[in-house]
Amino acid sequence: MKTLIILLLLALHITTAQTSSKYVAVTMDDLPLSIAARVDNAELDRVTTLLLKQIAEARTPVTAFVNENKLEVNGKRDPQRVATLKRWLDAGIALGNHTYAHKSQNRVPVPEAKEDIVKGMRSIHELYAARGERPRWFRHPYLQTGRDSLTRATLTAFLDSLGYGIAPVTLDNADWLFASAYDKAVAANDSAGMHAVAAEYLPYIMAKARYYAWMSDTLYKRQIPQILLLHANRLNGDHYAALCAEFRKDGYAFITLDEAMKDEVYRQYDTFFGGGGISWLERWAKTRGVTREFFAKEVPVPMSIKERAGIYEE
Ligand SMILES: [Zn+2]
Repeated sequence: MKTLIILLLLALHITTAQTSSKYVAVTMDDLPLSIAARVDNAELDRVTTLLLKQIAEARTPVTAFVNENKLEVNGKRDPQRVATLKRWLDAGIALGNHTYAHKSQNRVPVPEAKEDIVKGMRSIHELYAARGERPRWFRHPYLQTGRDSLTRATLTAFLDSLGYGIAPVTLDNADWLFASAYDKAVAANDSAGMHAVAAEYLPYIMAKARYYAWMSDTLYKRQIPQILLLHANRLNGDHYAALCAEFRKDGYAFITLDEAMKDEVYRQYDTFFGGGGISWLERWAKTRGVTREFFAKEVPVPMSIKERAGIYEE
């Protein structure tokens, strides 16, 4: 009898372990730094050091997406900034194309969107070519994938012809808004303010993770491998490792974008052509025709953070 109970407990434990396995792939946008245009090369290099240190400490794979024009100083590509970008690749982080000037594919004509993609290839392709490799992922600015089916199909085929796969986002959030509040506190030398923003940041992201885990469960009766969107900013430069520790506490293991993309969930078509740069989980839900109430559990950014940032739109 005792053996049977132990066996049953063991079986239960194994089942729990299997059903609780959750996976997340981290992507980081707007390299070399979201606010690159507003900082000098020394500050850019300093924050890069912080981000790379945090990523190494967290021991997570990361795929990061570059805006070529953020490598420029006074309208010219700056060799020092390219060298700073190379540090990411040297640290084992995969780099992808996030366009030259971060133009929305919902807003600009197709030829202009194509030009922005091509101009976004310059430095990442050079850095990869030096290793006999090439970048393979593209991330849409604002997660806007084309205002109609023709625009989307045309640009998707164009990206495909350049050898790019589209990197979706399921675990969307407004880390950029927290980062803006954080930068204001940094500029004001307000360490209590920095602390207050960070204290709200981690629970917010984890609440978002639970929201999208619920959505995955509701739509697919399982936990799909999630793709998290973060940005290259000072906030993550100080708190990325702590955030990853929270994910692990919640039962997540970290995987690469390539591993996540093997899941069949990412083979789905979506017919979402709205203006918002929303999560792919929300696109698939809308494609299924869910009602507005389906999104009632959405997690808002706390008002205190919006007030600090002076930004009221998420
Ligand atoms: Zn971006």
